[in-house]
Formats: sequence, C-alpha cells, structure tokens
Amino acid sequence: MDYQRFFAERIAQLQGEGRYRVFADLEREAGRFPAARQHVGGAQSRPVTVWCSNDYLGMGQHPTVLAAMREAIDRTGAGAGGTRNISGTTHYHVLLEQELAELHGKESALLFTSGYVANEAALSCLAASLPNCLILSDALNHASMIQGIRHSGAEKKIFRHNDVAHLEQLLAEADPDRPKLVAFESVYSMDGDIAPIGDILDLCERHGALSYLDEVHAVGLYGRHGAGVAQRDGVMDRVDVIQGTLGKAFGLMGGYVAGSDMLVDFLRSHASGFIFTTALPPAITAGALASVRFLKEAGGAALRSLHQERAETLRGKLRAAGLPIIEAPSHIVPVLVGDAARCKQASDLLLERHAIYVQPINYPTVPRGTERLRLTPSPLHDDAAMDRLVAALKDIWTALDLKQAA
Ligand SMILES: *Cc1c(COP(=O)(O)O)cnc(C)c1O
Repeated sequence: MDYQRFFAERIAQLQGEGRYRVFADLEREAGRFPAARQHVGGAQSRPVTVWCSNDYLGMGQHPTVLAAMREAIDRTGAGAGGTRNISGTTHYHVLLEQELAELHGKESALLFTSGYVANEAALSCLAASLPNCLILSDALNHASMIQGIRHSGAEKKIFRHNDVAHLEQLLAEADPDRPKLVAFESVYSMDGDIAPIGDILDLCERHGALSYLDEVHAVGLYGRHGAGVAQRDGVMDRVDVIQGTLGKAFGLMGGYVAGSDMLVDFLRSHASGFIFTTALPPAITAGALASVRFLKEAGGAALRSLHQERAETLRGKLRAAGLPIIEAPSHIVPVLVGDAARCKQASDLLLERHAIYVQPINYPTVPRGTERLRLTPSPLHDDAAMDRLVAALKDIWTALDLKQAA
C-alpha cells in the first residue's frame, strides 16, 4: 500500500469539505488575559484578542496560581518522577485529591493526567468490571466518555439528549437486577445547555443505576464553592461519580473523579489509564490546588457572578445586532454559521481583519449544518472588547452574506 498517498488523500478530503484543522500559533501574555500574540511566520507576531479560550476565568494567569507553581518548581523540581504507584505520588497530589474530594463532598478523589483520560479510564474500567453492565449514555456526551464506553465492551443504550422520559423508558425496559451506569454531563460545551441533573438522579435511584456526571465545563464556575451545577442545584450528594478537569476553569491541566472511598479505591487499583502513566508534575498539582482553593472562596464567587453577567451582556449585544446566537442558560455563547467552509472563512476573516481569534467548530465536534463560532466571554472581556467583537462579526456576516437571526 502507498501509505503516504492514503494520508494525503484523506487530508485533501478534509480540505475539500472545509474541515481541515489549522491551529493558531499563539503566545499568551501572562497578566494580560485575554490578549495574546499570534505568530505568523519567522519572528513576526501580532496582537490578538482570544474569544474562545476554555481558561474561562483567566485562572491560568492568576498570580496566586503562578506563585504556587513557581514555589513547587523551586522546592521539588520539574517532573513527578514516576507513575503514581512507583514514586510519582508527591505530597501535592495527596493534598489536591483531598481538596477535590472535599470540594465535591465525596469521600475520595483520584487524579488523572487529563479530563479525557479520567473519563476514558474510569468509564472503561467501571463498565467492563461490573458484571453484565448496561450503560445509558446521553446522545451528546463528549468523545472521551464515548471512547471509555466503547473500550469497556459493555452494552450501551443512547438516550436522546437531556430527554428524561427517554432515559426512563430505557431504564424501565432493562432487567431490574442488572447493574446500570448512567453517563451524562452538566453543561454541554457546544450548545451551552444544562442537564436536568435532579430528574436524572431520581431515575438512577429508582432504577438502581450508578450515576456518572461529567462537570468539566462547570467546575470552578457554578455552585457556592465552584463545585459545579450539581452543587448549585443542591443534588451533589446524590451523584455517585463526579468527573472534572483542572484544564478549563481551573486554568492548568489534569482530570479527576470524585466518589465513595470504595469506588475510588477500586479505580485506583484497576484503571489502566490511571496506573500505567507518569503522574502529573508537582508544579501543575500545586497550581491546581491554589486555583481550586481560590475559586472556593469569596474571590471565586465574585468571579463566577461576573462571568455569568459577562455572558448575558454579550448575548444581549449579539441579539441586538441580529446575529444568530444559540440561546443557552450558561456561560457559553455559540453563534451559528451552519456551513463548514464558511465557518472557517468567518474565523479567518475575524483574525485577519480584526485581530479577533475564534476557532471554527465543525463536524464531528458538532453535527453538520450546525457549524458555529463558540464564544467564551470571561470576566476579563470588558464592554469595549465586546463592542469590537460585535462590530467585527457584523462586518464578517455582511462580507460572507451569512444568515442573520430569525
Ligand atoms: C474538554 C472535555 C473533557 C476533557 O477534559 P481535558 O481535561 O481537556 O482532557 C471531558 N469532557 C468534556 C465534556 C470536555 O469538554
């Protein structure tokens, strides 16, 4: 086989559909979030404003976080030096796991190298181990959950997105004695909608199913201490497994699950994606610890309320300009384009003409025909930046003759 030709053809196909991914070469500027420099070849760079970061609160540049990381590097060096089992468990890992368990009101928590790995490892291990497990999975679950479910080899049924009646029907059809696991998210990151967590937990309890909730786009951002939407809704104690990331609102990287002592100890002892990989560097865990602690307290609550206000203000400005936003009750503000090639063009033009960076979101991240620009306003995007963004979007909508709001 001509391997290189195979790869080239598949890439050409993506390019033809306008789905070829081009990464912006950015250099974030500490202390100036959401400003960054875009490298444009050679030594050339230009200033841009980032409108699509998942560092939702700018914690990746927070002085408290940076100080904790510097201190950890000075005290302990760069890497963890091993897997968690073989010399890689540093005191920072232990403290962070305690902090995360406490944040979620659970007995224990377990760190993974990313949120993706946490989902993949935990779901594949749980569903493969529970005898004859049936998985019920929301139709819009993240790729990392889908992979974990696939790798488990367990039978799965998909319920329509956030459709409690459909989930109930599938649970009622299943053998009452069979172990079941319901996997879902709180804030869905591409539409910004939020699951009816309490209703889903009612069903889990009634049908004896284990509940597994991905709060990746909610930790740090919702609830009194930033534990997520389950905390906000007063149902956190009823969730069996809460999964989160340290890479989005907490501003670093890493993932985790929180749950009962026994469940977490079981994963610690059996999940391949936890066991056979080098532990996170101590500086990352130290920074995450500082970030989680900061966001738990009053400073975090203030950022959370400003964050929601910023999202609502941006939605208002976009609506007033007749731009077709996807309405959502969260901090995520998607603007619909509805075509892959033009979504890419819109993103390119925003960057070239207006120094505004928003990555196009295309299939398979979202269904075809719903391609979009996904805006993530932070507490540090002020009114002036929003007005510049709205004016730029109007210019691009006219230039490309894109659809206005209905
Ligand atoms: C980003 C994301 C993950 C993966 O988290 P990382 O820490 O980035 O690996 C998991 N679930 C959802 C819903 C996500 O959007």
